[in-house]
Amino acid sequence: IVDIRGLNKWFGALHVLNDIDLTVDSGARVVVCGPSGSGKSTLIRCINGLGSYQKGTLRLAGTTLGVNARETAAARRQTGMVFQSFNLFPHLTVLSNCTLALRRVAGRSRGEAEDIAMAHLAKVRIPEKAMSYPGQLSGGQQQRVAIARALCLNPRIMLFDEPTSALDPEMIKEVLDVMTALAGDGMTMICVTHEMGFAREVADQVVFMDQGCIIDRASARDFFGTSGHPRSRLFLETIL
Ligand code: ATP
Ligand code: MG
Repeated sequence: IVDIRGLNKWFGALHVLNDIDLTVDSGARVVVCGPSGSGKSTLIRCINGLGSYQKGTLRLAGTTLGVNARETAAARRQTGMVFQSFNLFPHLTVLSNCTLALRRVAGRSRGEAEDIAMAHLAKVRIPEKAMSYPGQLSGGQQQRVAIARALCLNPRIMLFDEPTSALDPEMIKEVLDVMTALAGDGMTMICVTHEMGFAREVADQVVFMDQGCIIDRASARDFFGTSGHPRSRLFLETIL
């Protein structure tokens, strides 16, 4: 579903993505990790069509991004994105946050949109908060709403950028549990995260980035095993 070849991106003189090759098959679960500033968010934003690039090709759901604006927009709608900061609309209820795009983008009626939204809120185990406002929710609850909101548009792939790193420790698990359940349902996902327990349990591929390059790409078993790449092992030692 994602096919990246020779992707390069510069911010001015800064080479933030350096010859990235990455393919993600339907149903795959990829964890991306690496030190701060290595280009993880930039890569995710490119895959989501939020960021431009200067060289290489990026195909998403069969479309080469950045060639035709209408096709790029259509491909983008196949992705669901969850950020570190939950990015919910504070003045809208949880339910309205979830139904907004369904009504405006997908053209659903109010009743249909609410049914879909409630089903996803139930999936992330927070249906009782439908009429609350984001400010009345804990960080973990807000992030679960953000996941439900992304799921409402029925994406073929979910992109997570450090979804738990703004959360207190006791809330991290409830979000990871939702993500693990999503993986169990067969969702294709790319997750930037340093939650190595999650990576070990859920990922079938771990990608390690440093200074804009993919240094190591391995099965979770190899990545955490004794045969891992020396640079990844050094990184693991610093965070574990
Ligand atoms: P972190 O773990 O801290 O989130 P990251 O791996 O996600 O880091 P990126 O956010 O992708 O890293 O940033 C990669 C590099 O690009 C960094 O050196 C950053 O300073 C730079 N960068 C990111 N966005 C911009 C921008 N809009 N303009 C200029 N430089 C940028
Ligand atoms: Mg980042």
